[in-house]
Amino acid sequence: MHYFDYNATTPLSPAAREAWLKASDRHWFNASSLYREAGFTANALSAARERLADLLGCEAERIVFTSGATEANNALLAQLHSGQKLAYSAIEHPSVFAASCAAQRIVLPVDEHGVLCLEALQRTVQEGCTMVSVMAANNESGTLQPWREVADLCQSAGVKFHTDASQWLGKLPADGLGRCPYITGSAHKFGGPKGVGFLVLKDEDEALKWLRGGPQESGRRAGTENYPGIEAMVTALETCATPTDRSSLRDAFEQDMLAHFPELRVIGQRSARLWNTSLLVMPRHSNLKWLTRLSRRGFAISTGSACSSGKEGSSVVVQALGATPNELRRVVRLSSGWDTTAEDWQALSAAFAEVGAELDAER
Ligand code: PMP
Repeated sequence: MHYFDYNATTPLSPAAREAWLKASDRHWFNASSLYREAGFTANALSAARERLADLLGCEAERIVFTSGATEANNALLAQLHSGQKLAYSAIEHPSVFAASCAAQRIVLPVDEHGVLCLEALQRTVQEGCTMVSVMAANNESGTLQPWREVADLCQSAGVKFHTDASQWLGKLPADGLGRCPYITGSAHKFGGPKGVGFLVLKDEDEALKWLRGGPQESGRRAGTENYPGIEAMVTALETCATPTDRSSLRDAFEQDMLAHFPELRVIGQRSARLWNTSLLVMPRHSNLKWLTRLSRRGFAISTGSACSSGKEGSSVVVQALGATPNELRRVVRLSSGWDTTAEDWQALSAAFAEVGAELDAER
């Protein structure tokens, strides 16, 4: 199979798999128990937390391990109450905008390339808000968001800033992310196992607790820690190459696609994007038709954001760009992995051309 849905999830990397097996064999004890072996598990868990802190450039005490990005976003944003204001970009993941249901919400616009408008953010911050949430890189279009600038703006205005870095981590260097007060990450987006992730908090957030019971994770998230999953996640991130020059493979694919389909719309083509992502509005035929025919030929692609794939017209980004319902039904997302080759991309554009001819002939 030619897999082009890495932004939805990735296969377990060999290094992560080995780390998971080793951790499960040697350190399956409950880290809270008091005998020697359990102590070794507790030490290994605390070493994994330190290693992740080093990668992110933050203090280990600020990291809370979670079941993934959805939990991290919900834990942070669901605690906001009706007297508080949350501003987030129009292209956030549903786990950001759906989690913050109690707070007053301000949706920040994006420009025609799908990048957050900093002027709008500046005005909102000046008018006063409690927290700002802007993702680091978008899951549908791959557009990089100005999180460094947002972090500076929020810091000088004394506003809390959260970034969902689920799609950035593993694809681009994590340097500097640690200076964001709140960060979300998810292992299965960069070769780690599913069901593991983290939330980085500001150290003064004593009251933020979302699973009550035992004292694990400083009492914020009770429950026996998933040490093998955590070890595999940290190993996946440590061993993940973060190439900066691979966008040429995706760019060549888009050129091929434009040659086959001159009226094709490439979202975010003129803005900085993740090297692996291409979000397209096909000139004709519904995305489900493209997806089904390509799937039969051995290509796995998506119709927009993974969490809503299967539903036509589901792209949050293309919707934010003011697309018509008809355009929304023609959105496809291609996202490659670390080992995807130029030949894989070429095979994909050739398959698109073949399917296009087939669908045109049936009209
Ligand atoms: N945020 C972003 C930006 C994502 O791409 C995803 C995965 N679609 C999530 C959050 C949810 O991640 P998880 O599966 O770890 O809950």
